[in-house]
Amino acid sequence: MSIHYTGAVGGYRDGEAVMKTAAWNDPALQGGTMVRGALWLVQEVGIGNTFTKEDIRQAFPGIAQADRRIRDLRDFGWILHTRADDASLTREQNRFVTEGVAVWNPRERRAAASAPTISSKARDDVMARDGFVCTICGIAGGEGYPDDAMLTAVLAVSSRPVRLPGGATTREFVTECKRCRAGQRERDADGALADALALPTADIDRLIQWIRQEKRDVSALERAWGRYLRLTPAARAAVRARLGA
Ligand SMILES: [Zn+2]
Repeated sequence: MSIHYTGAVGGYRDGEAVMKTAAWNDPALQGGTMVRGALWLVQEVGIGNTFTKEDIRQAFPGIAQADRRIRDLRDFGWILHTRADDASLTREQNRFVTEGVAVWNPRERRAAASAPTISSKARDDVMARDGFVCTICGIAGGEGYPDDAMLTAVLAVSSRPVRLPGGATTREFVTECKRCRAGQRERDADGALADALALPTADIDRLIQWIRQEKRDVSALERAWGRYLRLTPAARAAVRARLGA
């Protein structure tokens, strides 16, 4: 295994400690922006303190999407709160809550990235609970996207922060399609608000519930549809015949 920190001359007796103290802005540090960002949080921001996008821009001038790389730390167990998690924050602020995997240690980072986070049995259980539909956009596995029929949805299970009633956040495994997982979602606040306001009252109440918990509920109808789409052609034919479809 090669150690990518040229400052750690003299061996790897205590690799993690050496690398955690490596200055985040040391030009000799060969980590990527996520690694530098992790060290920046630890050394400059400090646990419990807040930082803004502008702070990131100043720390990482000219580095495209440095804020995104820092958000990627969440996949390694780092907890960074936004206003959605903590109402005392402004829209610009994030709070560095907890340090996660020592990503500056290549060995730990690899172990965390390759470790199966969920067994295949548990993954199947999560998908079944969610009715084999994406909990963000509602598409069923194998269904074509309404705006791109050539593209069919592939479902995956991810660990996502979910807000509990009362405001606390927890992490939960949820079913998402790969497109939502990649974040290729519409970003149009006016359009989203207009769509929401055009809904019947009962649907607005349901939407508010989803917004509060930051998670979509899957209706019995959608669950039934998702399960139907999972069937083999012969099984689908049997279901169709019984339903008189
Ligand atoms: Zn989706």
